[in-house]
Amino acid sequence: MNLNAYGYGPPNARRWIVVDVGVTFGNSETPGIDLICADPDFLVGEQIDAVFLTHAHEDHIGAVGLLYPLLRTKAPIYATPFTCELVRSKMDERGVDHKWLKTISMGATVKAGPFEVTYVTLTHSIPEPNALAIRTPAGVILHTGDWKIDPNPQIGSTTDIEGLTALGDEGVLAMVCDSTNVFEDGEAGSEETVRQGLIELIAEQKQAVAVTTFASNVARVKSVIDAANRAGRSVCLVGRSMHRVTAAAKASGLSAAGEHPVSLHGQPRRGKCRAFPHCKRRPPACGIA
Ligand SMILES: [Zn+2]
Repeated sequence: MNLNAYGYGPPNARRWIVVDVGVTFGNSETPGIDLICADPDFLVGEQIDAVFLTHAHEDHIGAVGLLYPLLRTKAPIYATPFTCELVRSKMDERGVDHKWLKTISMGATVKAGPFEVTYVTLTHSIPEPNALAIRTPAGVILHTGDWKIDPNPQIGSTTDIEGLTALGDEGVLAMVCDSTNVFEDGEAGSEETVRQGLIELIAEQKQAVAVTTFASNVARVKSVIDAANRAGRSVCLVGRSMHRVTAAAKASGLSAAGEHPVSLHGQPRRGKCRAFPHCKRRPPACGIA
């Protein structure tokens, strides 16, 4: 989970920005606990000028609806369009007013008190991942968020190498860096390689194909849909998160389905269900959608 706070100024007049407000999930070592998030007590009553969200993974946005009200601030919450869509729905679910949530474009620069924050486009396993170049009177901090370097991410731009190089030339005081599987040797590989593998595998199958993935990996969902379309198959998106994320992708102009229609009921609009041949019911009664 992530909740980072950057402060500038003397202790009695310090100004803050917060970067990401996420959760982690309970496991066998935390019985009875579903969600874990940071204790924001040290920030309550402090001058918070803005909250910046780097990307829409749960460990970066999952606690916004829980913790933002506790901060007792009116600081704007900045996020790019896809992230904003998901955060807005989470705040709605918790009955938290989202009027402080502000949509900004990729690459935007925002001034917040003594800070100037520029979004730097990266690649990751979710649309619109960003690093933040945080400029202060003392110098520049590069806060990366999560990242990998994918030359062909399928959705969105590639990593802004020029922007990162320019930051290096400008000089960076510190880089605060986070990357899943950072302790694994080797390369993460490109989504394009996965897409090609899915196209070949799905084309070879004779029966229904079930694919599991993180719903937030919209590029992976797109790859599966591409492979299915090439094999002349219908696609069924199953699960609440899958529908929530693909709706957010569509609303923010990142259609997972591209030009191709997706059957949300797991079957063609007419005829026999191909995904679940023994299902006698028809949508919406089939309960799949
Ligand atoms: Zn992430």
